[in-house]
Amino acid sequence: MLRTETRSIRVRDLMIGGNEHVVIQSMCNTRTKDIEKTVAQILQLEACGCELVRMAIIDEEDAKAIREIRNRTHIPLVADIHYDYRLAIAAVENGIDKIRLNPGNIGSKENVQAVVSVCKQHHIPIRIGINSGSLEKDIHEKYGKPTAAGMMESAKRHVAILEELDFHDICLSFKSSDPLLCIEAYRLASNTFPYPLHLGVTEAGTFIGSAIKSSMALGTLLNEGIGDTIRISVNGDPVNEITIVKQLLKCCGLLKNTPNLIACPTCGRTAWDMQPVVNEIESFLTTIDCDINVAIMGCAVNGPGEAKHADIAIAGGKQEGLLIKKGVVIEKLPQDKIVERLKQEIRSFAAEHKKD
Ligand code: SF4
Repeated sequence: MLRTETRSIRVRDLMIGGNEHVVIQSMCNTRTKDIEKTVAQILQLEACGCELVRMAIIDEEDAKAIREIRNRTHIPLVADIHYDYRLAIAAVENGIDKIRLNPGNIGSKENVQAVVSVCKQHHIPIRIGINSGSLEKDIHEKYGKPTAAGMMESAKRHVAILEELDFHDICLSFKSSDPLLCIEAYRLASNTFPYPLHLGVTEAGTFIGSAIKSSMALGTLLNEGIGDTIRISVNGDPVNEITIVKQLLKCCGLLKNTPNLIACPTCGRTAWDMQPVVNEIESFLTTIDCDINVAIMGCAVNGPGEAKHADIAIAGGKQEGLLIKKGVVIEKLPQDKIVERLKQEIRSFAAEHKKD
C-alpha cells in the first residue's frame, strides 16, 4: 500500500509520519495523579502492543505525577491539556514526551510563546486536535453545522499560530463521532497539511460500536494511505482499543507479528462445543506475537478444506476435533483436550517463528 508521506515528528525514540509504520496509541482512563493505577494501566497497554499513551493532565498534581509515571513505564507519554498553558509547561518540565493542546485555546500570545519556547527547548511535539463537536462559534455559524471544511478552517488557525513562532513539530487530528465526516475531514487534511495525521473516531461507543465505526472510517483512510498514528476510542478498558486497532492494522496489511483467528459461524452440522474453544483461543492469541493463522471450524464437511490454508486448525467432529497442521491431519482430539493441545501447537509455532 502506498502511504501518504508526511513530515515526521520525533516523540522520544518513536517517529511518527514520514515513511514510518502507523503508531498504535491509547489513552489512560485513570486519574493521572493516581500513580499506581496509571502505571499499572500503562504497563498493561504496553504488554498488548500500545506504543504511545496519553494521560489527562487537569491540575498541578497530575503534571507532577508525570515524572514518576515516566520512570516506571517505557513507552512515550502524551499530556492531554485543555486551556491552561501553565500545565503544558509543567508537563514538559516533568518529562512529558508530547502534548495535545490547541494553541488558540490557551489565551494570549505570550502564553503560546511560553509553551512553544519550552517545547522547542525540550524537542516536544504538539498535537492539535480538531473535534467536530467543539468548533469555534464563528466557524460553526458560518457553516451551520460541523463540516470538514469548517474543521480545516479551525485547524488552519491553530497551525498558523505555531508556524508564526517557527514551530513545526506538529501532529493533527480531525475527530468526529460521525465516521463519514471523519473520512471527509482526514482526506481534506491529507491534501491540505504536510503534518502527520493522528486518526480517530471520537466517542465511538462500546466495543462493538467502536469496532464497526472505527474500522469503517479509519480502515477506509488507512487503505488510501492516510494516517500516521491511530487511536480507537472505546468506552471502558483501554486494552480493548489495542485489540481492535491491531486487528484493523493487520487487515490493512500494516501490522506484522499479529495472529489471525479464522472461525466459522457454526450451523446445524456443528456437533461439538465450539464457542468456548473459540473464545479461549481468541484470548490466548492476544499473548502471541507472531504471524499465525489459526482456524477453528465447526465440522468435518467444510472444515478441513478451509483449514488447509491455516498454519494450525481444528475441524470439529462429534464431540471431538481433528488437529490439522498446514493442511495435514495430525491427530484426533476429544473435546476436553482441544484447547490445551491447540495452545501447545500455537506456542511451538510462535517459538519457531520468532518476532522479526
Ligand atoms: Fe457449518 Fe461446517 Fe461451515 Fe461451520 S464449517 S458453518 S459447521 S458447514
